[in-house]
Amino acid sequence: MAEPHHDEDRAITRRSSLVKLGGLVVAALGAGGVAKVSESDAAGEGPAGVASGAVTCVLTPEQTEGPYYIDGEKVRRNITEGKAGTPLTLRLKVVNASTCKPIRGALVDIWHADAVGVYSGFGEGAASRTFMRGIQRTNAEGLAIFQSVYPGWYTGRTVHIHVKVHLGGSVVHTGQLYFPDAVTDAVYRRAPYASRSGRTTRNASDSIFRNGGSKSLLALRKATSGYVGAITMGVVRR
Ligand code: FE
Repeated sequence: MAEPHHDEDRAITRRSSLVKLGGLVVAALGAGGVAKVSESDAAGEGPAGVASGAVTCVLTPEQTEGPYYIDGEKVRRNITEGKAGTPLTLRLKVVNASTCKPIRGALVDIWHADAVGVYSGFGEGAASRTFMRGIQRTNAEGLAIFQSVYPGWYTGRTVHIHVKVHLGGSVVHTGQLYFPDAVTDAVYRRAPYASRSGRTTRNASDSIFRNGGSKSLLALRKATSGYVGAITMGVVRR
């Protein structure tokens, strides 16, 4: 089935042209002997190119995995196990941050709190180790799609989804995905979220969000039922 066209694809095309421009700058430095660069760096690619800012396509910032990761979860699209919440479809695209090309066959591994702010495997969620956790493999467009519910909040954190991207047996990205606060406010006014009050932390006051989180904000749009959240994650092959 063909994927519908998305704004993110256009954004990538624009970024690709910026990458080429950045590559010229680095190559010029290399030719002048100012900086010793590898062949891939001279083309504006590779981790050094990303670090220097020569590569300006999306490099999704690394963020702490936190204390609630469980290894070896199920490969499945629907991770809700029937638990309540506003439906959320996640369209998570993985691209090579050096080339902006989609990466096929990456394993996208996500976990998040349920609608009442509980993680499976911990505290009140200890009876199950699997709800709101799962893995999907990216397709030829670099896309992994999940069916879940809008996460609830827990004390001290803004609403978020944890993510790891595995490639060829290595973790190439560990991060967190965030939500626009205005959308969260609207979702949390309804059941089952509305039964909890005292949400402590919004994006701007979250100590982890502050360190690059704005680059990991999901683009959210309303769907027939619930929301669709999309983001492109730029990763560096290791
Ligand atoms: Fe968390």
